[in-house]
Amino acid sequence: PEPGVKYARVMLKISGEALMGDQGYGLNPRTVARIAEEVKAVHDLGVEICMVIGGGNIFRGLAGSAQGMERTTADYMGMLATVMNALAMQSALESLGVFTRVISAIPMDQVCEPYIRRRAVRHLEKKRVCIFAAGTGNPYFTTDTAATLRANEMGCQAVFKGTKVDGVYDKDPKKHSDAKRYEKVSYDEALEKHLGVMDATAIALARDNDLPIIVFSLDEPGGFRGILAGEGTYTTVN
Ligand code: UDP
Repeated sequence: PEPGVKYARVMLKISGEALMGDQGYGLNPRTVARIAEEVKAVHDLGVEICMVIGGGNIFRGLAGSAQGMERTTADYMGMLATVMNALAMQSALESLGVFTRVISAIPMDQVCEPYIRRRAVRHLEKKRVCIFAAGTGNPYFTTDTAATLRANEMGCQAVFKGTKVDGVYDKDPKKHSDAKRYEKVSYDEALEKHLGVMDATAIALARDNDLPIIVFSLDEPGGFRGILAGEGTYTTVN
């Protein structure tokens, strides 16, 4: 990467809902394009980028099972939703001239690549953004866990969790004006206090492999790049 950039290879995790903009469902092309710009700005710093995008803007397994659907089937539907989001992000990034690969945990060769670890590493070395789709490929997991898993497998130095606020707070800062942002939180504290960083499986996997989680705001234009260049506010979970 460029001089002064702290990380050479990172994972960016965003929820599916981050792509829906002010709609209540699905994909907002302008929002997808805006996030692609944020990713490109970091790519331009020479940072190797992995991405995992959730599927909650389209379908969540738990919601399906609450309506009587068999849980594992509902989870597969959720995983398929993440593939759609990954393809939308691929398209947006490539229209900005950033080469990408969508790599699915569930093989669907006509649509994207299957996950082969060594091949994915090679793509990163060639500065292609790797968008990991279909979660871990297993029901009962989440895309937070997929992000942490792939980050470990790819040798990422940190997981960046893009949210609507610039870090982890002791209470919801959108509801409480006296909410305090943590500069740093330990994995155990995040787990114990249910700080909503990521789900427990994902946090434990990060903890057991000393992988820092950086919670930051994706709504702040240039914020992602800023943090990589050593600026801005965020919370480090480590
Ligand atoms: N999912 C799954 N296994 C995985 C990742 C995801 O079964 O490894 C399913 C699960 O049903 C989940 C849905 O895919 O509800 C969408 O992912 P997630 O809820 O993590 O998306 P986000 O909340 O980040 O948008």
